[in-house]
Amino acid sequence: NKGNSSTNEVVVTAETMKNIRRQKDIEKLVIEAMENDRVEVHYQPIFNIATNTFSSAEALVRIKLIDGTYLQPNEFIPVAESSGRIIPLSDAIYRSALSFIKSYHVERLGIQHIELNLSVKQGESPTFTTKILQLLEDYQINPEIINLEITETSSLRSKERLHENMKKLEEHGLCFSLDDFGSGSSNLNYIIDMPVSIVKLDKLLSDEYFKNSEKAKAIVNAVIEMAHSIGIKIVAEGIETQEEFDTMKALGVDYIQGFFFSKPLPEHEFLKFIQNNNLK
Ligand code: C2E
Ligand code: CA
Ligand code: CA
Ligand code: CA
Repeated sequence: NKGNSSTNEVVVTAETMKNIRRQKDIEKLVIEAMENDRVEVHYQPIFNIATNTFSSAEALVRIKLIDGTYLQPNEFIPVAESSGRIIPLSDAIYRSALSFIKSYHVERLGIQHIELNLSVKQGESPTFTTKILQLLEDYQINPEIINLEITETSSLRSKERLHENMKKLEEHGLCFSLDDFGSGSSNLNYIIDMPVSIVKLDKLLSDEYFKNSEKAKAIVNAVIEMAHSIGIKIVAEGIETQEEFDTMKALGVDYIQGFFFSKPLPEHEFLKFIQNNNLK
């Protein structure tokens, strides 16, 4: 033993190698899916307490595998974000969603907003605003139907540019939700600094609330009161049971999203769901 072993010696464990290989495999699946039209967008209906209808829906990406099963976003979004592939992937997702909105006139079914997830990599890009506006122009979509869900993350490099992009898009009629509130990194500053009109309470926080955590209860109550006092609406995410629904409704949240109503659905199933529930 020489005592002072080299400090820049890299130890590549079998586990690391497996992860690298897996990342590369996932990366390859993403590229193949983009080339072969297997990037699908599913839609999860969001219930509006005031109107008693499903007045919005969240667009959630899936990759259809050759055997007909789906690769879930938690497996490939982080990989796409670290490789930079998230930009072309998001382009494909947004085009798919806009084409869906256009083709089926979802607003005629009582859908006021389609919520698209926004990765910080997209949101802080200098060309983001013009790109979105161009897409809306291409598909002839009223910008007011689009709600972009942002998450506060540590990977945000330029809050200023994100803010600038949001401001410009807001002037064109788009609106924003603060996603995953209460999941750890979220921060009330965002509600004050950024033009958000909706806060989405993360499932983790609601679950703590349902487990009777005093801390979670205090946070949820404070956030709802604070948001409402400045005209911001609240969505409770990940609501799975009647009891959870009743609790959130009694708390005064404005929208409910979760498996209690529906999982994210492929386009045609989503349209059927909305027709059956909104047009009766
Ligand atoms: P998210 O934005 O927080 O989306 C909500 C997730 O919760 C979705 O998972 C949805 O299927 C799931 N969910 C909804 N209701 C319930 C429920 O009652 N119980 C439980 N256990 N889960 C519920 P999904 O579709 O697997 O997406 C996971 C994450 O991947 C999303 O979390 C989002 O961060 C990311 N993601 C999904 N689609 C996109 C996209 O198009 N672009 C970007 N950048 N990220 C996306
Ligand atoms: Ca979301
Ligand atoms: Ca969320
Ligand atoms: Ca989440």
